[in-house]
Amino acid sequence: MSASSSTAQSIIRPDKDIVLDEHNPFESMMSRFDYAAELLSLDPGLYRVLRHPDKQIIVSVPVLRDNGEVEVFTGYRVLYNSSRGPAKGGIRFDLAVTLDEVKALAAWMTWKCALVNIPFGGAKGGVVCDPSTLSNGELERLTRRYTAQIIETLGPDSDVPAPDVNTNERVMAWIMDTYSMHKRHTVTAVVTGKPIEMGGSRGRRQATGRGCMIVARESLKKVGIPVQGARVAIQGFGNVGSVAAELLHELGCRVIAVSDKTGALYRPEGLEIPDVLNWIQNHRFLSGYPKAEAVTNEELLTLDTDVLLPAALENVITSRNAADIRARIIVEGANGPTTANADKILDEKGVFVVPDILANAGGVTVSYFEWVQDRGGYFWDLPTVNSRLEKIMVDSFREVVTMAERHKVNLRIAAYMLSIERVAVVHRLRGLYA
Ligand code: NAD
Repeated sequence: MSASSSTAQSIIRPDKDIVLDEHNPFESMMSRFDYAAELLSLDPGLYRVLRHPDKQIIVSVPVLRDNGEVEVFTGYRVLYNSSRGPAKGGIRFDLAVTLDEVKALAAWMTWKCALVNIPFGGAKGGVVCDPSTLSNGELERLTRRYTAQIIETLGPDSDVPAPDVNTNERVMAWIMDTYSMHKRHTVTAVVTGKPIEMGGSRGRRQATGRGCMIVARESLKKVGIPVQGARVAIQGFGNVGSVAAELLHELGCRVIAVSDKTGALYRPEGLEIPDVLNWIQNHRFLSGYPKAEAVTNEELLTLDTDVLLPAALENVITSRNAADIRARIIVEGANGPTTANADKILDEKGVFVVPDILANAGGVTVSYFEWVQDRGGYFWDLPTVNSRLEKIMVDSFREVVTMAERHKVNLRIAAYMLSIERVAVVHRLRGLYA
């Protein structure tokens, strides 16, 4: 180890002795950050700055229920770093939302935007709720009140939300409207992932899944597995998973398994994805689909497959099941599906893991395109959006692979090194405002 890295190591991670919780998403992210920072010999002051979120907001969100009662929900918005531009990051509505999770996701967004080299910092938000128990009216009131509670941070130049788990175009339209009512004029660029009719970008809804398809295709080529007929198993059949399934199927891959929270479907010869999508349209969930074997989500993860694409929630590949993973390639559609302890096991097994900050960056990339189009007031056609996305994803994939080979590290650490260095450069150039 060089002198500079041992100096960095002695300063980095003052709390290293604390027993880390493998499932704590912030710790999980930070353990990778620490390692990459050490390899970069990041100066200790900058290390300390980048280890802390810029701003953490906790709000109470009172909502009038349809039965006349008032319920109070808790909402968060974390701006992790905005040195490279406005903070960018989705909003999720979920019972599992915690401040630690939102912090981790906000940090991830910082590294992700830097990795694909778009001029954004990182943010994330969430409201602790179960949207499936809320009526449309209740969901609208919740969204508008949450928006009003965090309105000081929002803005096209400061903080730009997007959809995430359990939020969609409809929710983004309410946020945009609430913000615009406060500003007394229409501000389309305050959120991305909006309906196309009100300033959304063509291709945004499919962008994350499309990005996953692109990196899965590039990974297969890199590893030397023919794309045609390659077996793919996908966990999660929402925005990311279902689009990735559709595009990989169109590409000629064999999507052998898909799942949602009701369970998984398995068909070794390959599922007829258009038929599964049709089923979902009519039945909402995968369970009950007749032309495949029903397996559990746990079983899906350990299937014999070429590509495993977790696209549901975090912490699904852990030290408990990593040794049983049989996939040659993992493409992380979800944020944080693999814990740091699992990484070590997968490394030993030689699994080619495309990390979340690269694999699911297609969404934020087209969000960036949407923000650019809104600000310019000039909208692009779908082939333009898709070809620009293709270029950014392929270039970023190659940069990460090159970095990994140069430093003899896995793709995750290489991705962190690239992005941390990009954020660090801007911090050094800007200096510290006293
Ligand atoms: P979504 O709500 O549209 O879909 C989530 C899917 O996961 C659903 O099919 C749901 O049934 C399934 N699911 C939920 N709990 C599950 C469980 N315990 N086991 C198996 N499946 C389960 O969400 P999404 O937008 O597709 O996001 C999925 C992941 O991708 C999240 O980690 C999110 O942060 C990440 N992501 C999303 C985007 C985006 O543009 N939507 C961008 C980047 C990253």
